[in-house]
Amino acid sequence: GSQVVDRKVDSVCPFCGVGCLITYNVKDEHIVSVDGRDGPANHGRLCVKGRFGFDYVHHDQRLTKPLIRKPGVPKDDGEAPRPSHWSEVFREASWEEALEFAAGKLRTLRDGHGPKSLAGFGSAKGSNEEAYLFQKLVRTGFQSNNVDHCTRLCHASSVAALLEGVGSGAVSNPVNDVAHAELVMVIGSNPTANHPVAATWMKNAAKNGTKIVLADPRVTDLGRHAWRVMQFKPDTDVAMLNALIHTVIEEGLADESFVRERADNFEALRQNVKAYSPEAMAPICGIPAQTLREVARAFAKAKGAMILWGMGVSQHVHGTDNVRCLIALSTVTGQIGRPGTGLHPLRGQNNVQGASDAGLIPMMFPNYQRVDDAGVHRWFEDFWGTRLDATPGYTVVEIMHKALADDSDPHKIRGMYVMGENPAMSDPDLNHARHALASLEHLVVQDIFMTETAWLADVVLPASAWPEKTGTVSNTDRMVQLGRRALTPPGDAKPDLWIIQEIARRMGLTWDYAGDECGVAAVYEEMRQAMHAAISGISWERLQRESSVTYPCLSEDDPGQPIVFADSFPTADGRVKLVPADIIPAAERPDADYPFVLITGRQLEHWHTGSMTRRATVLDAIEPLATASMNGADMESMQLAPGDVITVRSRRGEVAIHLRRDDGTPSGAVFIPFAYYEAAANQLTNAALDPFGKIPEFKYCAVRILRG
Ligand code: SF4
Repeated sequence: GSQVVDRKVDSVCPFCGVGCLITYNVKDEHIVSVDGRDGPANHGRLCVKGRFGFDYVHHDQRLTKPLIRKPGVPKDDGEAPRPSHWSEVFREASWEEALEFAAGKLRTLRDGHGPKSLAGFGSAKGSNEEAYLFQKLVRTGFQSNNVDHCTRLCHASSVAALLEGVGSGAVSNPVNDVAHAELVMVIGSNPTANHPVAATWMKNAAKNGTKIVLADPRVTDLGRHAWRVMQFKPDTDVAMLNALIHTVIEEGLADESFVRERADNFEALRQNVKAYSPEAMAPICGIPAQTLREVARAFAKAKGAMILWGMGVSQHVHGTDNVRCLIALSTVTGQIGRPGTGLHPLRGQNNVQGASDAGLIPMMFPNYQRVDDAGVHRWFEDFWGTRLDATPGYTVVEIMHKALADDSDPHKIRGMYVMGENPAMSDPDLNHARHALASLEHLVVQDIFMTETAWLADVVLPASAWPEKTGTVSNTDRMVQLGRRALTPPGDAKPDLWIIQEIARRMGLTWDYAGDECGVAAVYEEMRQAMHAAISGISWERLQRESSVTYPCLSEDDPGQPIVFADSFPTADGRVKLVPADIIPAAERPDADYPFVLITGRQLEHWHTGSMTRRATVLDAIEPLATASMNGADMESMQLAPGDVITVRSRRGEVAIHLRRDDGTPSGAVFIPFAYYEAAANQLTNAALDPFGKIPEFKYCAVRILRG
């Protein structure tokens, strides 16, 4: 704009996985506005979060001093972290004292109870360099693979199915490739709220003739642009998708030469879907057989058909099966490996793709190299110059269970280091998760605010917000993008890379990452080697020049490969492995006591656990209040009106919340965003896990609705 600023600093939006490039306008050491930059994912566009969600960095609740829990103050796992109480619970400490205390106790637990007594949660909100260094600290310093992050709560099931089926967990085609598709199926995703700039590509494609099929139990805004809306009953993904595959195969619409040349196990799939005719599935999924057939035909016959999906697909005990069906649908129709086709699991967090690539997961080293593969294990022992554990570590929800394990359990988790995650809000069954965090002997939390998790810590380390550091993040389209430091951290807050290295040193590691900004370039270059081919053509210098480079990128002059799988798949034999799926019901079904289905999710203005966006003035002004959405017909029959306060209760907890009418929410269901501490949706959710991805069933549990 016309505003006179002191400097303009190019960076990346810190919220969603679309990865819009931005410019921070800085005056008097404050960000005064944000502009959209002409990045490959956004072409200058921004949504309301990117444009207005910046002044959280200047909020007066920023942590500016290391804090140590006062002796004898109990960890109250039912209490909100109210600022007026902070000084009753914590005292300020010097960095030296806080780091000694944080690392000293971790060391004592490791040496006394063994490496498996410790775990670390990194964050998809940190940079690739932070993720890489954090997992290296856990693997080499804690000496186990108990390291994970919120990908477990997000696309773990998608990644499990994709690695098994096509050999790579990342997307095959970028979002804006929808412009080249004749048909786009968006399933279990609300992109106008959660990937808003990505949704603009979809809406513009629709304007130019692309048929959008929105498949979702909740009819959301994108439905207005859709050719067909399939509002299937919650939890019936496999029934609906198998009916589509059945139609394609039985009506002779399969791409036989593609299947013959590039896929295995077709016969088993064909046999399995025989029982799933649209006519048989219509009463189960609630979509007329005629619609299922129409959509299947249009998908198969389209010159290009692409599938994009979100948490509605992944967050089920059958999340992996849901994605197996999507892979099968794309494969039997030959809709993969060309422009306007393919599989796109929309990544939620700004760096959930990158943090996973960097190895912030318990079963894999960087770039999905299995910790229990002997060759890989040897390579990393050489590379890092130390002995490494060869068994996969525990995942997020498993770690919470292990924190409450019996004292005699040799794998009981006793100490944790949490960097930038907020499991006391984001985990399922919060009463259990908070109790688990509170019962740890030692909890170190590194964050920018007194999050609900930090509130349960023994020591809190004040870290840097995204505009206060330089680093890379990788978006949903596999673009590695550079964010540059615009501000210095407030008070005594420190860059996360500095804190990780200080903890590492005190755990006995001798690292040396020289250079500006805590050696970020050196960390990146080491990560580039550890990831082998994937980003080998993306040097730190190149990122300075280009800001954004897509991988796979094999050499300095490789422009990057936005569309993959053209000739072969990165599986062992280069072919797709088709995996049939059958109907598995949700872990907890509605019954007479708990007759409603709870669906949790997000909304446009607030990001995940709300710690940033609820402290951003404009966003908080637009959506100041937690609300639950219900269908108008249900409200009428229960004599409820918009604005009423209801209590939503499950077998695990209850929340009081204001009611909002939303006729897109199906009858018999209630939708609650999980961003609000005062009505935390995850107090209600069920921690039942998908057996492959170990992702909890956030999208389905049974609740009762009471007035007031
Ligand atoms: Fe930021 Fe996502 Fe909005 Fe883009 S679409 S501005 S990356 S929140």
